[in-house]
Amino acid sequence: MTTDGGEASVAGSRPERLDDTDEAGEGFVFSEKPLEIVSGEDVYLTDADGNEYLDFGASYACTPVGHCHPSVVAAVHEQVDEMLYVQASYPTPARTAAYEKLGAVAPPGLQNVWLCNSGTEANEAALKFARSATGRKKIVAAKNAFHGRTMGALSLTWKPKYRAGFDPIPRGVQFVPYGDAEALREAVDEDTAAVFLEPIQGEGGIYPASETYLQTAREATTEAGAALVFDEIQTGLGRTGSLWACERAGVVPDAITTAKGVASGLPLGGTMCADWLAEGAGDHGSTFSGNPVVCAAANATLETLVEDDLADNAATVGDYLREQIEIAAEEEGLPIREVRGAGLMLGVQIRRGANRVLRQLALSESVLALPAGRTVVRLLPPLTVTEEHADQVVESLTEVLSRG
Ligand SMILES: *Cc1c(COP(=O)(O)O)cnc(C)c1O
Repeated sequence: MTTDGGEASVAGSRPERLDDTDEAGEGFVFSEKPLEIVSGEDVYLTDADGNEYLDFGASYACTPVGHCHPSVVAAVHEQVDEMLYVQASYPTPARTAAYEKLGAVAPPGLQNVWLCNSGTEANEAALKFARSATGRKKIVAAKNAFHGRTMGALSLTWKPKYRAGFDPIPRGVQFVPYGDAEALREAVDEDTAAVFLEPIQGEGGIYPASETYLQTAREATTEAGAALVFDEIQTGLGRTGSLWACERAGVVPDAITTAKGVASGLPLGGTMCADWLAEGAGDHGSTFSGNPVVCAAANATLETLVEDDLADNAATVGDYLREQIEIAAEEEGLPIREVRGAGLMLGVQIRRGANRVLRQLALSESVLALPAGRTVVRLLPPLTVTEEHADQVVESLTEVLSRG
């Protein structure tokens, strides 16, 4: 069983690794010295030997308010003392607050909230809601898209490496080139139940969609009576400089899916949708939906995000970081092709394998980052980072990339 990114393998016994092999065929990133992480505080992680790392990967955007944010930790402690779990048919304060808080941060019209346990489940739900509410079968998704790995979500995920070995994968999904408005218009018709898009493709290599592309998606789906679903599992919650990445295009979809950092890394996914999708959603459910402990973490995370205006910090520090990388690339002649993304979701496309660079960043610079494909260094730090942290990362990147 292969794994991507830093996710655990099926057996759960392998040390974390960042990709299969890089261009130099070097295999596991941390094979020489697996990092066993034992604690975290804000933007730093500490390993079993007491070494501190500046965390610019945030474990795939799972810690937007920083590691072990005191109010998240306190909220979890409090909830654990009160009650770990009760079935979802009994309202509980934590779950009710999570519905309200997610509804409050969702764009207008998307106040129907379904809670689950992961991103892939949030997309599964959106897929089912769209099929059921429209009575239609066809789904349109983008080439290079990543929407998760359960069978429904996998049917929307493009890369052969994620799909290999799992046939028959549910059919009915048409893939269109990401960013091609004309192709999207052509694909969406009156058989289409939904269009799924990431406003910025994450796993696919940090490729942002233009505002007009997202607007075209809105127009085409509205005309056809299909649902527009934005997968904001990586782009959402302030990461790109606004609470949701679709805001910059002025587009409100029919559903937004969230997960990753919404409960600071405790397992929570959410599907926020329009009335017509919620009303036609059919029967869907999950025993753990809205687990109180997880909801307590989400409530404190969302409060912190909003109160500390971390979307704004993501915009400011993100712009600064991008600019400094571009300046360093120019001045030091670094092997950098381009920097893509928005806010604190940046992909640095380099002229060499990303894994070796990531290993050197980790082991000799104590900076953790992520890959997004073979030649992209992905920066997704907690949204609490400062310009000083950004300077440190630019310095480390310069050091590693100028080694040749
Ligand atoms: C991570 C991710 C998913 C899948 O989320 P899981 O919690 O791993 O199931 C889906 N879509 C996007 C855009 C993601 O980044």
